Amino acid sequence: MTIGFTEDTRSSRHHRRRTRPPARFDLSLSENPFPPLPSVLRAVNQALAQANRYPEFLPRELPENIARHIGVRGDQVVVGSGATGVAMQIMQSLTFDGAEIVAGTPTFDGYPIMAEMVGMTLVAVPLDAAGNQDLSATRRAIDKRTAIVVVCRPHNPTGTVVSSGELKSFLSAVPDRVTVILDEAYAEFLGPEDRVDTLALLRKHSNLLVLRTFSKAYGLAGLRIGYAYGRRELVERVRRLQLPFGVSAGAVAAVSASYAAQPELAARIRHITEEREALRNALLACGHPVPRSHANFLYLPGPGVATVLRRARIAAKAYPDGSARIAVGDREAGRAVLEAVAGLR
Ligand code: PMP
Repeated sequence: MTIGFTEDTRSSRHHRRRTRPPARFDLSLSENPFPPLPSVLRAVNQALAQANRYPEFLPRELPENIARHIGVRGDQVVVGSGATGVAMQIMQSLTFDGAEIVAGTPTFDGYPIMAEMVGMTLVAVPLDAAGNQDLSATRRAIDKRTAIVVVCRPHNPTGTVVSSGELKSFLSAVPDRVTVILDEAYAEFLGPEDRVDTLALLRKHSNLLVLRTFSKAYGLAGLRIGYAYGRRELVERVRRLQLPFGVSAGAVAAVSASYAAQPELAARIRHITEEREALRNALLACGHPVPRSHANFLYLPGPGVATVLRRARIAAKAYPDGSARIAVGDREAGRAVLEAVAGLR
């Protein structure tokens, strides 16, 4: 099947947040540049026509649907307001006095923010020189206060992946009483050779929760839909904190319509990854040592990168050493990035 790209990806150009002066391109939140598919919009609209009604008291339809799709039972899935909402729920349900959460740093901003909200201490493990999460150092950072350890695969902000062998030995070395969040927010961008069989991992590890989202590859960040899956006992514990009426009927409809549109979504993912590779090659050619990314963003090591992007009115996620992370997929935005940083190296 051939799927043409009739619509363009100018959402990154036209979408403006509160940046001053207004950004020409907003690449700061690793969003999908494509607006929702027409079939998904229709399904959401239909659900919205009944927005005077409450959704399900505790979500059943959505976890059942996701469970069927990934090949687990409904009671092994917990859903929430984005992967952020689910991660928060996991942290709330597993915290104790003096609890710590261990994560490779820098990481997704949500982890330090939520750790503070739930009163957990974040133990930051520096990434290795290649931008990978250092799993040996992460293992050594686990102690009796550790409640949760996070492994992002791919990692945000570098886009790198730890090998499946490393991940497996790491999981075997983590004590059972410590919950591992395998954050796969960008899993759909992984090539087949880099995917891990999470169901096989779950058969071996009762302390594992796999975290996923509809915000990135599915392009539904504004609808706030995320989920985690794992062994029933652990998921059951996390589900106890489920917010009543907390998942909208629009979210349920969007997920069903997205599952029905897999080929079109897969074509968008291909487009985004091809743009990513082209932009990375161009950046490498100008001397920017951009790590190989397996997600929908690129990490441009500093110093100075974040500043030149800001001056070019390109909103990027900036890091204290002057590095920047930019979302990819929009060719025009990619060209603007290249122009902005070309003279730096
Ligand atoms: N995990 C990682 C690694 C992320 O980068 C993000 C979003 N930037 C999330 C989780 C949360 O995504 P959401 O809440 O939109 O589902």
